[in-house]
Amino acid sequence: MTTHTLSGSIPINKPWIGEEERREVIKVLEENALTTAARDGGKRVRDFESLLRNYLNIKHVVAVNSGTSALHAALLAADITQGEVLLPSFTFVATANAVIAAGAKPVFVDVRKDDYTIEMSDLKSKITAKARAIIPVHLYGHPAEMDELVDFAEKHSLHIIEDACQSLGSTYKSKQTGTFGLAGCFSLYASKVLTAGEGGAVATDNDEIADKLRMIRNHGMVEGYDTRVFGLNLRLPELSAAVAKVQMQKLPDMLRKRRQNAEKLTELLAPEAKRNGLVLPHETSDTIFNWYLYTIALQKNIRDRVKGKLVSERIGATVYYDPPVHKTPYYSEVCPGTKLANTEWCSTHVLSLPVHPSVTEPDIQHIAGSLLKAVGLE
Ligand SMILES: *Cc1c(COP(=O)(O)O)cnc(C)c1O
Repeated sequence: MTTHTLSGSIPINKPWIGEEERREVIKVLEENALTTAARDGGKRVRDFESLLRNYLNIKHVVAVNSGTSALHAALLAADITQGEVLLPSFTFVATANAVIAAGAKPVFVDVRKDDYTIEMSDLKSKITAKARAIIPVHLYGHPAEMDELVDFAEKHSLHIIEDACQSLGSTYKSKQTGTFGLAGCFSLYASKVLTAGEGGAVATDNDEIADKLRMIRNHGMVEGYDTRVFGLNLRLPELSAAVAKVQMQKLPDMLRKRRQNAEKLTELLAPEAKRNGLVLPHETSDTIFNWYLYTIALQKNIRDRVKGKLVSERIGATVYYDPPVHKTPYYSEVCPGTKLANTEWCSTHVLSLPVHPSVTEPDIQHIAGSLLKAVGLE
């Protein structure tokens, strides 16, 4: 396989920002309209919310200042301020931190080894009378098995709050992730598929939850100094909303480029995968990925060495997440004795590769060539 000489490195993710974003940001500055504490937010916040609402085909979107705030606000809006919340440990720590911030106790559930999403049988074994909600995480943009989850949650009167921070644009049975539960939470952090630098959003079909979310992002106020519920300042600034709004218009293009890169990578890796112990990410007849990351698993214990070789070839191969949340110092104290076999295997065997819109076809050939060379040498 040919490799190409590259001028720069290939980061794991990179915002796809252009002239349109620059123009919109300048307009906000010229209007001197940086933010507003009005209940419905500023003009760009409302524009962004409306674009995301249409894209998701959902009744309400409430923009906030981060994905973490989205999860925190969704839990508060659903009154999950005590009891237990079940969530995977194989996620970014924000999912668990939001549960603690809301006042509930996280209970960590194992994941499936095939797509790294929450595992139903382990979930079922961990439900107690204190359980209030489940947070499935659509990790790497892989949709969790939502039919089974929704059925199970209904049977046990549990809320579902989706962590869709990595999965904007991914679908399960043709329906957008983040639209299955009581609320779906999105992040606009710089590494995500759609970015504002920092930012987030909650999607919901529930009018009451949407009303509460608008209060919670603004100190629980409705008309002025009339705090009705507990809230914080979780508002999205207009400069960020301006970027997010333009990014919404580019989302289909950005997703198309990611898919092209992912499909090319699969085409190059698939013939060699089995022989080299590589497990490649793949969609099923029920799922469409946004290709936030291209995450492989290496069957042999060579992950860290392979990663090192790719990094030395200026490829931003990255491990998400090692350690898993339950093995971090803080959460090993909060949830002592947690054992999750698949999670622990995944955290030591997965490796994510870049397929973001700025990755070119020569880059993909370089990534595939370097990876196959690295695993072949091990
Ligand atoms: C990014 C992310 C978050 C948090 O979003 P922020 O905008 O960084 O606060 C939460 N959960 C997952 C799975 C994420 O990837």
